[in-house]
Amino acid sequence: MKDIVIYGGGIVGAACARDAALRGLSVKLIEKYDYASGASSKSSKLAHGGLRYLESLNFKLTHESLVERDWLLKFASQMVKPLPFIFPIHKDARLKIKAGLSLYDLLATSVLPKHKHVDNIPLIRSDIKEGYLYYDALLEDGRLVFANLYDAKQKGAVCENYSESTETGKVTINAMGPFSPLTAPTKGAHLVLPSIKSETAFILRAPQDNRVFFVIPWRGLSLVGTTDTHFKGNPAEVKVEQSDIDYLIEAFTYYFPSADTTIISSFAGLRPLIKTDSLSPSEVPRDHLIKVEDNKISVVGGKYTTFRLIAEQTIDQACKLLNKNTPCQTKTHPLIDPYPHTGTPLTPNHPYTEDDVRFAIKEEGMKSTDDWFFRRTEMGYTDGMSALSKVETILHESYNAVS
Ligand SMILES: Cc1cc2nc3c(=O)[nH]c(=O)nc-3n(C[C@H](O)[C@H](O)[C@H](O)COP(=O)(O)OP(=O)(O)OC[C@H]3O[C@@H](n4cnc5c(N)ncnc54)[C@H](O)[C@@H]3O)c2cc1C
Repeated sequence: MKDIVIYGGGIVGAACARDAALRGLSVKLIEKYDYASGASSKSSKLAHGGLRYLESLNFKLTHESLVERDWLLKFASQMVKPLPFIFPIHKDARLKIKAGLSLYDLLATSVLPKHKHVDNIPLIRSDIKEGYLYYDALLEDGRLVFANLYDAKQKGAVCENYSESTETGKVTINAMGPFSPLTAPTKGAHLVLPSIKSETAFILRAPQDNRVFFVIPWRGLSLVGTTDTHFKGNPAEVKVEQSDIDYLIEAFTYYFPSADTTIISSFAGLRPLIKTDSLSPSEVPRDHLIKVEDNKISVVGGKYTTFRLIAEQTIDQACKLLNKNTPCQTKTHPLIDPYPHTGTPLTPNHPYTEDDVRFAIKEEGMKSTDDWFFRRTEMGYTDGMSALSKVETILHESYNAVS
């Protein structure tokens, strides 16, 4: 029997597997669908402290998140890069924004430049004249899941996707995100639009309801999101609705009235938010919850940014149940994207090669072209589908070679 069996191959399950394997524990991870098929490939792709959590005075979450953001920039630098943001100054909000950004700088660990005032914001509607420039980071959400899984496997973990296994361990961890009964998920949708030709992201307030949304330079395009609405139903069937599109396009065109709004692609995911009484989606805290019952641990909530910390605290609890005193190793252990990037490129616009596809089939449990285009890479959301026939051919060759 394994020390630890983990259900769920999103970022939380994958990071728990890596943390436990690095401590020398025997680990199995079981994913019902594909790895990273839940929230962990549908995020806004930001490693951030969450400026807006300061409004609810949640300094602890912001501080923890900023420390983890800065850890990611240092120890997962292939997959996490600094990203400048413009925060336009709205009337009446100047002092509030300035105070928030000053606190944000103070709570971080000084890896990124501090915020500064700018009195010229290109591209945006002409009545917005000034704002603040500050930094957060852009992460490759899917790749981070696979980097965690690969490192876990290198240290002996066994990982299975598309699995019906019901195995239990000495300790069993449920990391099923929005599928967990402890969550009340909310839906977040994103649109991928033609680039507004800015290297800087924007943090904006939707005119309809004053909610924060982002316009992010992403893969040569603009990523616009997100919505935040209650969700009931099967989490595996979450999708972008017309109402999500209408909301995001209205908010986007308010700020960028002459920008091209041709929708290149879209995606929706579920935030695994902890169940609470009667709060609106945006008010539900983004903290995580680790619940221990006998030899079972449920871990839900939190943010992408804090996955390493969530995994550390979860495996600390597992070690207590196992009577083992093995400290966490991840804080000083770099996280590497294992793709070789050798051989023929799949397209001129993406870093991925034919060898990467072969690697994904052999090492990452890739079984279909969707696994490649929407989880292992983001090619399917951009212009990468032109490589479909090449990926199909490699997939067929690999399976014919095995059978
Ligand atoms: C729209 C959106 C935007 C976001 N933006 C950001 C952001 O910019 N920055 C940030 O820090 N955070 C962000 N988040 C939050 C972050 O993405 C999530 O907190 C994180 O991905 C949750 O990871 P998880 O592993 O708990 O859940 P998931 O990624 O959903 O993984 C759960 C896994 O469990 C599997 N599973 C379900 N049932 C079973 C079963 N019975 N057996 C085995 N496996 C099962 C599922 O298939 C799934 O793969 C965002 C979330 C959303 C939805």
